[in-house]
Amino acid sequence: MRLQIERNSDVPMYLQLRDSFREGILSGELPGGTLLPPERKLAEELGVNRSTVVKAYDELKAEGLAEGFVGRGTTVLSQLFPRSGDEPVMPLPWNQLLNEDSASPNGSIIRDMMRDAGGQDRISFAGGIPDASLYPVDAVRTVARTLLSEDPRSLLLPSPVHGQECLRESIARYLLTRHVTVSGSDVFVLAGSQQGLDYAARLLLRPGDTVVVEDPTFFGAIQSFRTAGARVLGVPIDESGIRTDILDVVLQRYRPRLIYTLPTYQNPTGVTTSAERRRELLRLAWKYRVPILEDDPYSDLSYDGTPPPSLFATDPSGHVLSLGSFSKTLFLGTRIGWIVGARRVLDAFCRMKQYTDLHTNTPAQFLLDRFLREGHYAAHLRIVREQYALRRNAMIRALEQFAPPGVNWNAPAGGYYIWSRLPPSVDVSRLAAAAARRGVSYLPGNAFFADGAQGTTHMRLCFAAEPEDRVREGIRRLMEAVGECSRDGRARTLEHAGAANPVV
Ligand code: PMP
Repeated sequence: MRLQIERNSDVPMYLQLRDSFREGILSGELPGGTLLPPERKLAEELGVNRSTVVKAYDELKAEGLAEGFVGRGTTVLSQLFPRSGDEPVMPLPWNQLLNEDSASPNGSIIRDMMRDAGGQDRISFAGGIPDASLYPVDAVRTVARTLLSEDPRSLLLPSPVHGQECLRESIARYLLTRHVTVSGSDVFVLAGSQQGLDYAARLLLRPGDTVVVEDPTFFGAIQSFRTAGARVLGVPIDESGIRTDILDVVLQRYRPRLIYTLPTYQNPTGVTTSAERRRELLRLAWKYRVPILEDDPYSDLSYDGTPPPSLFATDPSGHVLSLGSFSKTLFLGTRIGWIVGARRVLDAFCRMKQYTDLHTNTPAQFLLDRFLREGHYAAHLRIVREQYALRRNAMIRALEQFAPPGVNWNAPAGGYYIWSRLPPSVDVSRLAAAAARRGVSYLPGNAFFADGAQGTTHMRLCFAAEPEDRVREGIRRLMEAVGECSRDGRARTLEHAGAANPVV
């Protein structure tokens, strides 16, 4: 069977490959039991990334056309046409039945990251996940024991849709540190801020509406907006945050329904929007009457000085909805986030929550409430801030030592990420595989752009998840991979002092 890939086609290569195999299987050219070519070998033959073949095979498996077992490769299903009488029964075309954008280049990033998060040997700069070895397990044990001994039954009862009163009050008290003055009844508890992104997208955007995001921005938000059928428009950011001069033009021309911003220690760039740009951003939102969705999960992770107040705190007009989360500072697994904003919107969130998951997990809410109330959160923040600052410094030092000429990066004042740009001489299509061979992973920059064709020469490097020695070793290996993928050999010289320049 002849496999052909058209590189200039609008159809992603893995879908082309899937379609060729599908045709072969359905026509009987590839009968049940046929072993499909090994992923690596086929990728080499076709001159594509191995992940292209993996994704094509995953699609065939999802459609019920093939099955795969670790170590045994991928095989065409032998029960493909079970017969009922003489009529062949075709497998269901799940891809066509599902109402989702399976061709989205960002489709599987979060899933892949969550899977990789468990790996022990790989040095991962890819995830945006706190280091579990720093988890305050003793405090969790004490709090959990107290809760269980006091009133175990209440931990197992359902919660109010908008969240447990005690936790809402604790979050309101905590928000004073972000200069936000609200009462507990103004706080809506979410199962992580990702749920807030999904609700905001579904409630504020109709199919075809435009939403403005920073370019680059958090890919989970891009996914939520796209899933709601919205058109995602990126406005570039520089080292002072979103380019409000460009935003002005975009607001005028496209009349978007929502502006999504990460003003403090942005994901993926680490950039903090300046006071002047914040003022301008608000002024524009007021002028064009557009709501702003502020996403603020990183501001407690400040390493140089204090973070600016939340954007919500500086907007007396009620244009800003503000999302927060304990996922980056404490633990991802409890899935506790929140939103504050206009009452009318929170009422709509309340209805949406009833339709989707009724309420956020009760024991996690009580746990987080006690954690805040008894001062464990503040104590834990002191530890992680100190540790993550050391890791950030270690990453910058390692980049200075090992980055080949032409590689740039920034030095963020907080958060999780260093944003790095590679010179054009590096063949980025080979880099992820070259890094993986050395046991290192990172996230390619294009995942963070509204237009996935941009950002291919950028890398997001999370410094928080690995201890200093592994950060250093990981950067050494990654930069060795960069050297290997250099087309003209210029980027091969290691031990070169690179530059902490603005790269956004
Ligand atoms: N927003 C941003 C900017 C993030 O980086 C993340 C996590 N990667 C989230 C929202 C989602 O966080 P969670 O749902 O765990 O609160």
